[in-house]
Parts: sequence; structure tokens; C-alpha cells
Amino acid sequence: MASRLRFKVVDEAFKKRPVEVSLRSERPSEYFGKYVFNKQKMYQYLSPNAYQQMCDVIDNGAPLDRTIADEVADGMKRWAMDLGVTHYTHWFQPLTEGTAEKHDGFVEHDGKGGMVEQFSGKILVQQEPDASSFPNGGIRSTFEARGYSAWDPTSPVFVIGDTLMIPTIFIAYTGEALDYKVPLKKALYAVDRAATAVAQYFYPDVRKVTSNLGWEQEYFLVDESLYSARPDLVMTGRTLMGHDSAKNQQMDDHYFGAIPERVENFMRDLEIHALQLGIPVKTRHNEVAPGQFELAPIYEETNLAVDHNMLIMAMMKRVARKHGFRCLLHEKPFKGVNGSGKHCNWSLSTDTGILLHAPGKTPLDHLRFVTFIVETLRAVYDHNGLLKASIISATNAHRLGANEAPPAIISSFLGRTVSQLLDHVAESTDEQILSVGGKTKMQLDIPSIPELLIDNTDRNRTSPFAFTGNRFEFRAVGSQANCAAAMLTLNTAVAEALCTFRQRVDALIADGQPKERAILRVLRDDIRYVQPIRFDGNGYSDEWKQEAQRRGLDCETSCPLIIDRYLDPESVRMYESQHVMTQAELRARNEIKWETYTKKLQIESRVFGDLCMNHIIPVVTNYQSVLIDNVHKLRDIFPADKAERISGNNLKIIEQISEHESFIVENVQQMIAARKAANRIADPRERAIAYHDTVAPYLQTIRYHVDKLELVVDDELWPLPKYRELLFIR
Ligand code: ADP
Ligand code: MG
Repeated sequence: MASRLRFKVVDEAFKKRPVEVSLRSERPSEYFGKYVFNKQKMYQYLSPNAYQQMCDVIDNGAPLDRTIADEVADGMKRWAMDLGVTHYTHWFQPLTEGTAEKHDGFVEHDGKGGMVEQFSGKILVQQEPDASSFPNGGIRSTFEARGYSAWDPTSPVFVIGDTLMIPTIFIAYTGEALDYKVPLKKALYAVDRAATAVAQYFYPDVRKVTSNLGWEQEYFLVDESLYSARPDLVMTGRTLMGHDSAKNQQMDDHYFGAIPERVENFMRDLEIHALQLGIPVKTRHNEVAPGQFELAPIYEETNLAVDHNMLIMAMMKRVARKHGFRCLLHEKPFKGVNGSGKHCNWSLSTDTGILLHAPGKTPLDHLRFVTFIVETLRAVYDHNGLLKASIISATNAHRLGANEAPPAIISSFLGRTVSQLLDHVAESTDEQILSVGGKTKMQLDIPSIPELLIDNTDRNRTSPFAFTGNRFEFRAVGSQANCAAAMLTLNTAVAEALCTFRQRVDALIADGQPKERAILRVLRDDIRYVQPIRFDGNGYSDEWKQEAQRRGLDCETSCPLIIDRYLDPESVRMYESQHVMTQAELRARNEIKWETYTKKLQIESRVFGDLCMNHIIPVVTNYQSVLIDNVHKLRDIFPADKAERISGNNLKIIEQISEHESFIVENVQQMIAARKAANRIADPRERAIAYHDTVAPYLQTIRYHVDKLELVVDDELWPLPKYRELLFIR
């Protein structure tokens, strides 16, 4: 019987002891990057010439010379074989979630009846995996199954187990990107070019601008045995039913609380693995919800940071199992408790400093600060709907606007000091701000900003895009997302804003305006222009939704319709003008997004229907029979009026059960009919819309009745582990 199983499983989960992780005598600084073919290893395994060329490739984006590819491959092979490696794989990021890899051995026939380990430059630089089973949105028909993967030398190769992992880009035979890395790298190139041109107004020596990303990865841990007893968690990553536990996060006692020992051992183990792979993990803490935690590294160059995030998500799942946990990366595994996000801390920097960093010595530093803030705001304002599209998914949609995460409206919080600074610049005249002091020295009346710009009290947790001192924090990104989607959109939008900024300033300079005056004039226009995107108030409030509508911000909440924003003329213009993606690529990607949305809902709806009909209804009917039996027996042994009185409560429950039951059975049938109707729609967009409008609502309405039943049915009989069992780790 279901009950026995559940109790056995819960019992087992609560008896678990922490896996011992011995404290290592080595320091993190000693094993950091141990399994990465970084510059230090290159120096050791390559000739001075090849090493120099590789440094140029890594630091300056120089193309990888094919003539040294063989030597680099050979060095890699020798290093990897010293670590016991036998296989290699091109590791890439297809448009599904996660990463993909195909392993091949180093071994080849040596022509003399034996084997030899081989790894050539050609294999390193290019592979032709069968691309037919990866989504391509119709870019290639499946009979043309060739796609190319090629090493991205700006992301170092690394070793996991017996395999040399080679981070690669993945493109179709016809040249279109089939992954996240290609457009991300193009976006990073675009923002480098545009930001360097603007930074040179202030610092003529600047040659390169780097985009940085520091992600904060939130996640849940659930005991593995409890997880296995929840088919919904196993198949969809979230609980499709389950009543709130009496205590969840209302006491706020989990956030920053003591980390349970079992969890701490998991974290320690994970961190050692991460550091060995060169991921600079630094921060770990409990999050708001019980069973929820966060991990954050020191920020890195965006392409590398994205790779590291993909790598760590896979590692978290693996290491968790070793500790008897399952790691849930879903944005909303549990209804009624906070979901998980992945705040993406973003900034631009030159080799000398961060362009969004406020304190500076000279008036030009201050003007540079205002410029990069305002042009970032312009990017976010012009493409607020598109930025929302870059983070939306069937799973993240549960989290947005749920009074725990940024609303489904993109706005930006600047804080008091920076807001006042922008207002000051906008309202002043040239004469007030610019004056020539002394002989030639220009003075700018822009107040400098104190170092501790924004302390924790001045943080607005409800803002999806908040300025936090020397960076913007894009908080709407989902916990299981590849943050490349958000980062490539943000960086392209900023590149576009900086390009037009540069064009407008240059036009004024060509008209004879001094540079500072030209910059100020454009900035003043832009500060007024971006006013609607600035919002420091409570993003969770209903008034904000109305206000945002009035301001013309994108307020759409339906995931399939939000995805439309990728194909808006201004979005296509942005991606094409910055050479990041073509309209054909955008179209193909949208098809994949709509299809993914539909598939997710289709699976959820099937699993949910199955759980209702095969798990819940039979158990509930059994329990109802027990109650009915009891009522009959009371009537047998007591006089009618007394029996009536004392069986009143049971009669009420019997009736309630019948009502909930008939609602569930009827609506599951309707949900199946809605699904069938939606499946008949050929157009992927229309089908996704049908799933959103006609299938998804059943998951909510039916769930309400299942959760009510959970409250009346005998705890011993309930077939699924409950929230109070899943959420609290002992
Ligand atoms: P929070 O207080 O927001 O939770 P955390 O310490 O958890 O902050 O994470 C902040 C993240 O932001 C870290 O990954 C950190 O390295 C990163 N970060 C700090 N400064 C910058 C910057 N200038 N650009 C990008 N990321 C940054
Ligand atoms: Mg944090």
C-alpha cells in the first residue's frame, strides 16, 4: 500500500547521516585550476612560440593559427595523459538546456597491429558531430545532418574524470549558429568595439573593453529517496501538487541561518571540484526558503563565466547525488515558497578599471560614469520587452511576478545618489556644468560619488535590473537558464546604445562643439528619454503594474507572446546591426523556444493527469470507502438519531471528497481534450499559445482540489511525500 512506502521512504531520508568529506590539507590556492589547461600548463607543455601565440589568442582575441594547432593539441594530450585521461569531447551548449558532449578515445591503430594515442590540431579545432538530433528550428533539414563544432580558445579545455573537455561553438553546415556561444561571443565582440570607442572619449589609451559576469546560483536540495517517490519532481523538476507546509519561510529563519551539516559537506565537496576546474567559487549561504541555498563565484569575463555556470550546474547535480541529495535547479519547485533565480551581475571594464565604477579623480571620470550608466539605461529601455524575452521560459514564468522575484516588467533601480546625479545633469545648463577654470583646464560641476555608493539598506530587492555600486544586477534570470541568453541580449543592446551615442556625439563635434559639451548635450537628451525605465519603488505592487502600463513598458505576462519580442523590427535591427544574429536565426530560435514551451507543458500536463488518476483518486476513494463503512457500522450499533449525530463529521468529509473528486476527474478529462486540440495545431507559436491559454490553467485549478484533499485524507494513506517532508533537511 502507498502509505507504507511513503513512511519507509521518509524514515530512510531522516536517518541519513552526512557523507564524510575530509578536510584537505591542501589549500584552495594550491589546487585551483588543477584540471584546467591554463596559461601555466601551456607554458609547461608548449614551445615558447606556441605559448606566446596562445596568449595572444586568449588576451587579444587573435585568431588561432592553424599551424600551431597541432602543437597545442599535442601539448594538451600530453598534459591530459599525465592525468590519466583517455578520451576527449567537444563540449557545447545546444539550444536545449544544459550542455552536450560526445566522447571519443585518443586511441588509433598504429599500423603495426597495435594502438597509439593520437590527438591532432584538426580534431581540436573542428569536429562534425551529427547535428540532426539537436534543435535547429528548421535551419537545416535532418537529412543534412552535418553541424560543425570548433574549439573556442578563449575558454580553456579542462579534464573531468578520464575525459578532456573542449569548450566549443556549434554551427550549422550552412553557417547559422545552433548554440548559445556563437551569438554570445559576437555580442561580446560588439560591446567591446562600441564601448572601446566611447571609452576613448575619456581615456584615449583604451584598447579593449571586457564584459564581466558574476552569477549567483540559487538551488534547492531534496533528499534523494524523497525525490524518487515524487514522479512529478523526477519528470518535471517541480512539484505539481502539494499543500503548503504549516511552517515554511514565514519565520525567515533559514536565510543566512546555520547550514545543516549534510548540506555543508555537499557544498565543501562541490567547491573543491569547482576550484579544481578553475571556477573561482567564493560565496555560499542559505537562501530564503527552507532547503534553498546559493553559490556565487568571483566574477569573470562573460564567456568564461557562462561556461563555468553551465559546468557548475552539471556538477551540482552530480555531487548532490553522492551526498544522497537531488539538486533542483527548477525556478519554482514548490508552490508557496520562494523560487530560485540566478542574479547576473554585469559590468564593463577596461584593463585599467570598471566603467560603471563611480569614484574617479577627474571630471572626465565622472562624465564617463554618467555616460555608461545612462547608455545602459537606454539599452534597457529601448529593449525592455526583448530583455524580458531573453529570460522568460515555461519554468521561469512561475517565478516572475510572484511577489518573490522581479515582476514581469523590466525597470531599473538606481538608488538615491545616482538618481540625483542624473537629475542634476539633466536639469543643469551647459554653463552651470561646464566652465573653463584656469588656462585650459575644463571643470565639470558633476558631484563625485562616495566610494560606498549604495549600502545594503539602499538596495531594492524588487527591481529586475538594479544598479549595485559598480555593476548592474539583472535579477530576472532563471536559476536553470543558460545565462548566455540574457547576457547576449544585454550586451548587444548596450553595444547598440553606445554606437548611436558615439554617432550623435561625433556629429556634434563635427559641427564644432567641444567634446565635453557634445557629450553632455546627448546625455541630457538621453536622461530625459530613459525616464520611464527608472523606477525605485516597490516592483511587487499593483500600482506599479498600472504605472508601468502608462509609461509604455512591456507588461505582457504570457510566455509564448513575450517570445514574440525577438522578432520585433527593432530587435531584428539591433541584432543585425551589431552582427550578432540574423533574422533567419532569430526566427529559427523562436520556433525552438515555442516548441520547448509546448513540450514542457505537455509533459507537466501528462504527469499531472497521471498522478491525479492513478495516485490520488484511487487512494482518496479507498479512504472514502473506509469512512462510508464506518458510518454504516455506527448505524448498526447505535440508534438512528445518535448514529446520525456522531457520524456527522465523517459524512461531511465523505461529501467533500466526492465533490473534489468529481471536479478532478471531470477537469482532467477536459485538460486531456484541451491538450489534444492544441496538439492538432501545426504552427509552433499558435500551439504554444494554445497550451498557455487552454492547458496550463487546468494545472492550477485542479491542483487546488488535490491540495484540499491532502488536508482531509488520512496522512498514512497519502501516496506522495509532503512539503513538510521534502523541504526540511535534517
Ligand atoms: P549579493 O549581496 O548581491 O547576494 P553576492 O556576493 O552573492 O552578492 O554576489 C555578487 C556577485 O557579483 C559576485 O559574483 C561578485 O563577484 C559579482 N560582482 C562584484 N562586482 C562585480 C562587477 N563589477 N561586475 C560584475 N560582477 C561583479
Ligand atoms: Mg548573493
